[in-house]
Amino acid sequence: MKVAVIGAGPAGTRAVETLLAHGISPVWLEESADGGGRIYQRPPAPLARDHRTLYGFEAKRAAALHSAFDAARSRADWRPQTLVWHIRPSTRQLHTVSQGQQAVVDYHAAILCTGAMDRVIPIPGWTHPGVTSLGAAQIALKSQGCAIGQRPVFLGSGPLLWLVAYQYAKAGAPPAAVLDTTPFATKLAATPGLLRGGATFAKGLFYITWLRAHGIPIAEGVSPIAIDGAEDGVTALRWRDAAGREHRTECDALGLGWGLRPEAQLADLAGIPFRFDAVQHNWIPERDLAGRTPVAHHYLAGDGAGIGGAEMAELAGRRAALAVLQNARTPIDTAAAAALDRKLAAGQKFRVALERAFPFPAKLAASLPDDTILCRCEGLRAADIRATAMVDYHAGVAPELNRAKAFSRAGMGRCQGRLCGAATAEVLAAALGQPVEAIGRLRGQPPVKPIPIAAA
Ligand SMILES: Cc1cc2nc3c(=O)[nH]c(=O)nc-3n(C[C@H](O)[C@H](O)[C@H](O)COP(=O)(O)OP(=O)(O)OC[C@H]3O[C@@H](n4cnc5c(N)ncnc54)[C@H](O)[C@@H]3O)c2cc1C
Repeated sequence: MKVAVIGAGPAGTRAVETLLAHGISPVWLEESADGGGRIYQRPPAPLARDHRTLYGFEAKRAAALHSAFDAARSRADWRPQTLVWHIRPSTRQLHTVSQGQQAVVDYHAAILCTGAMDRVIPIPGWTHPGVTSLGAAQIALKSQGCAIGQRPVFLGSGPLLWLVAYQYAKAGAPPAAVLDTTPFATKLAATPGLLRGGATFAKGLFYITWLRAHGIPIAEGVSPIAIDGAEDGVTALRWRDAAGREHRTECDALGLGWGLRPEAQLADLAGIPFRFDAVQHNWIPERDLAGRTPVAHHYLAGDGAGIGGAEMAELAGRRAALAVLQNARTPIDTAAAAALDRKLAAGQKFRVALERAFPFPAKLAASLPDDTILCRCEGLRAADIRATAMVDYHAGVAPELNRAKAFSRAGMGRCQGRLCGAATAEVLAAALGQPVEAIGRLRGQPPVKPIPIAAA
C-alpha cells in the first residue's frame, strides 16, 4: 500500500513513525528543507543552538521529535523542499513542485498534516515595513537567531502572544509593550476549563508573571487604533486601554496575531466537507477522532484538521496512521488506539477552554475603518469590500464570500486569502448584517501556494 504523508511537523512525523513501525514506508512530502514543523523548527546548521535555548520548556519534546524525525526520514521516501500544490482525490494523485520541477505522486491513502498559520487582523498601518505576524516574529528568532526589532510591540491575543513576548525578552529584545485585546475578566472566566491543561496552563501563567515581574508594560482588553510609520518602518502603535484612554507606544517593530487558522486548502481540494466551528471561529474540515474524513482514503491530523496544539498533533498523527492501517486490515494494537482516542477527546476539552479564554475579536475585524487595507496583495480597503456587499444587495443575489472575491479580487493575490480571508469575511458579514458563518468561506484553489509558471 502506498501512503503519502504531507507535512513533517509533530503530526506528520508521528504518522510516518507509526507507519514505519508497521512495515509501511510512506512517501513523505514537506515544503521546508527540514522537519519539525512550526513549533520545533530547526535553524540551519551554521546557526544551530542548543534545544534549551531554542525551545525553553519544550526542549525535551523538541529533542524527542527531532530524533524521531531523523530516524524516520532515512527509512521513508523523504522529499523535502517539495510543495504539494494540488490533490486529486478521484485519481488519488498529488501534484508537487520541488526546485522548479513538477511531479505527480500516486497514493492509495493520504494523511494530510499541513499545520496552521497565524490568524491576522489587518489594522490601519499594518503594511508598514517592520510589521509581522507573531509566528513570523518567532520564526525569525528560532530559525535565524534575529529579532524583528530592538523594541517591538506585540499585539493580539492567544498563547503565542505571551510566549513570543517572553522569548523576545529572554533573547535581549524586551518588548516595548504586550497588548492583549482580550479583557482579563474573559480569561478569568475560562480558568476552570484551563485547569484541565495542567502543565500547559502553568506555562502560560509563568510567561505572564515573568513578563510582569521584569517590568514589561502589559495591558489587557485593549483596542488598537493604528500603527504609525513611514516607508522606512514602524514608529509607534496607537491604542486604547480598557477604560477608553488613548495611548501611543513607540516601537521599531510590531508582531500581531489572534490565534491560528488551519492550513486546510488541500483538505478542501480533496473534497472534504467543512463546518464552521463557533468555538474556534474557524472553518474546520470534517473528520472523526482518528482522522478519518468523509472522503475515503483521505485522513487528517494535527492543526490542519482544527487547532489543537503540538502535543495533540503528535497524538493525532499516530492515530491517523493507525486508522490507515486499520482500514487496510493490518493488525494494530487496538488498546493503544483506544488510549489515543481518550487522550485526543480530553485534549479537545482543554482546547475549548483555551478558545474561550482568547476569543477571536470578530467585532474588531468587522469594524475596521473604511480606509484600512484589508487585502494587501490586491490593495483593497475595507470600503471596497463594503461596496462589494452593496453590489450583491442591489442585484438581489445571495451574499457569499466567493462572490465578493469575484467582484473585488479580495483573496485572489499571492496569499490566496490565507492572510486577509478571516478579516475580509468579518467585514463582509457585518456589512450584510449576517453572521460570518452565513457567508461561507473562501474555496481552495490550486495551486494552494504560488508556484513558478514554468512548473505549472
Ligand atoms: C508560526 C507558528 C509558530 C508557532 N509556535 C508555537 C510555539 O512556540 N509553541 C507552541 O506550543 N505552538 C506553536 N505553534 C503551534 C504549533 O506549531 C502547532 O500546534 C503544531 O506544530 C502543530 O503540528 P502539525 O504537525 O499539525 O503542524 P506544523 O508543525 O505546522 O507542520 C505542518 C508541516 O506541513 C508542511 N506543509 C504544509 N502545507 C504543505 C504543502 N502543501 N506541501 C508540503 N508541505 C506542507 C509545513 O511546511 C509544515 O512543516 C506555532 C504555530 C505557528 C503557525
